[in-house]
Amino acid sequence: MKLKFQHIDLKLKYTFTIARCSRDFEPCTMVELEHDGIVGYGEASPSERYGETRNTVIEFLNKINLSRFKDPFQLEDILYYIGNIEKGNTSAKTAVDIALHDWIGKAVGIPLWKLWGLSAEKTPQTSFTIGIDSLDIIEKKVREAEPYPILKVKVGVPNDEDIIKTIRKITNKVIRVDANEGWKSKELARDKILWLEEQNVELVEQPLPSTMLDETGWLREQIHIPLIADENITRLTDLPKLQGVFDGINIKLMKCTGLREATRMIHTAKALNMKIMLGCMIESSVGISAAAQLSPLVDYADLDGNILITNDPFDGVKVIDGKLILNDKPGLGVEKMSFVLPATGGQVSH
Ligand SMILES: [Mg+2]
Repeated sequence: MKLKFQHIDLKLKYTFTIARCSRDFEPCTMVELEHDGIVGYGEASPSERYGETRNTVIEFLNKINLSRFKDPFQLEDILYYIGNIEKGNTSAKTAVDIALHDWIGKAVGIPLWKLWGLSAEKTPQTSFTIGIDSLDIIEKKVREAEPYPILKVKVGVPNDEDIIKTIRKITNKVIRVDANEGWKSKELARDKILWLEEQNVELVEQPLPSTMLDETGWLREQIHIPLIADENITRLTDLPKLQGVFDGINIKLMKCTGLREATRMIHTAKALNMKIMLGCMIESSVGISAAAQLSPLVDYADLDGNILITNDPFDGVKVIDGKLILNDKPGLGVEKMSFVLPATGGQVSH
């Protein structure tokens, strides 16, 4: 098995601002896993919030030695090995997990959703993200988001109410809000959410800092719409302690180490009677198409990372009237279009 990687800066159409940071491009790493003439694609979109940078992704990928494994069908053993090289590094691990899954799908000649026995018709509609911005730009973005029936609005700033009023002047679409830990007290979060309920907001993601779990449990008793955990959950082991505090979880491949772990989390969350959102970072169609393969299993999809960029190097899952459209191509169902940047990455051959 040969593992190669290449960097790409995914360029954002608009400067992307959430409660804690702002950026114009996303430093991603594309991975190719080649074996027996078949190439599986993967992607890492590292987040500093979870301790990763492009450099940590490279360092981690360079530590991987797949020479002891026969082929990618040894998925469980390979991922166990990679998971134990070092803690953290979740997006780097995800890149390899996605590439292994893509390879397996291509080797057997069917899409992953079909391999897992899922129905492509059951994909949910994805929300479209409106980042924090001036009210003029927010109005422009909302008008441009006309094809998307669900908006996910970033809040967690002092003028949240102005943002929502600006949007509600234009549309009655479903609005979900994400505070990204931006409200720093339980009382502030309660007041904000009670007001948001009056604006017909469907759910709230991560109202308080992840360290304020007790306060979040208190908050849940004060409000009426679902609370979804994002920064409070990375992997399966985080899930049990969230029962009774949050109503659901936002699973992102880049946080959880990939499709294998995400599948475990989905079934565990169902057992705990919790709602499931499939989310994403700013990613190309590789990461988004990977997550979309699991989307027939979840309640909410927020898989728009590839729609927010202008230089997607791959073509894959489509969105029509908000609904995720899975194709019949094998594996992830993605095809390489072009890499915008020249290769600056490394190569690990084993
Ligand atoms: Mg979030």
